[in-house]
Amino acid sequence: MSELDQVRQAGERLTRQRRAVLQALDTQGGHVTAEQLCDALRGEFPHINTGTVYRILQWLKGHSLVSETDVGIGVKVYERVCNPRHHHLVCLNCHRTIDVDDRYFHPLATALKQDLGFQARIEHFAVFGYCADCARGK
Ligand SMILES: [Zn+2]
Ligand SMILES: [Zn+2]
Repeated sequence: MSELDQVRQAGERLTRQRRAVLQALDTQGGHVTAEQLCDALRGEFPHINTGTVYRILQWLKGHSLVSETDVGIGVKVYERVCNPRHHHLVCLNCHRTIDVDDRYFHPLATALKQDLGFQARIEHFAVFGYCADCARGK
């Protein structure tokens, strides 16, 4: 069953606007701001505003369809939750972001579940720090 079917089965409605936001996220690829989505959707929905887009994103996030991540640019970025999952390492010095796959985070989620019964939602994670070059003081 697809994630969208799961939403439908939960009796929730994927409205035209919600569907359009998902489509826009697919089209734009990763790391889209609410502002950028709003611009992309204005052709189809001339009266849409960032507040509406933001509310839709929160709803989609609540259904694990979309991830919301602080990647250090001042506003949150949104992305479809997809397989394989990926995460980011963000350098606080040169602001480079390095993509890393889920294998680094999977053990963390497993340990939190086992030890604390906590079900971590590590869908799209940004870890801040210093990249190898900056850490070396280059
Ligand atoms: Zn990403
Ligand atoms: Zn760096």
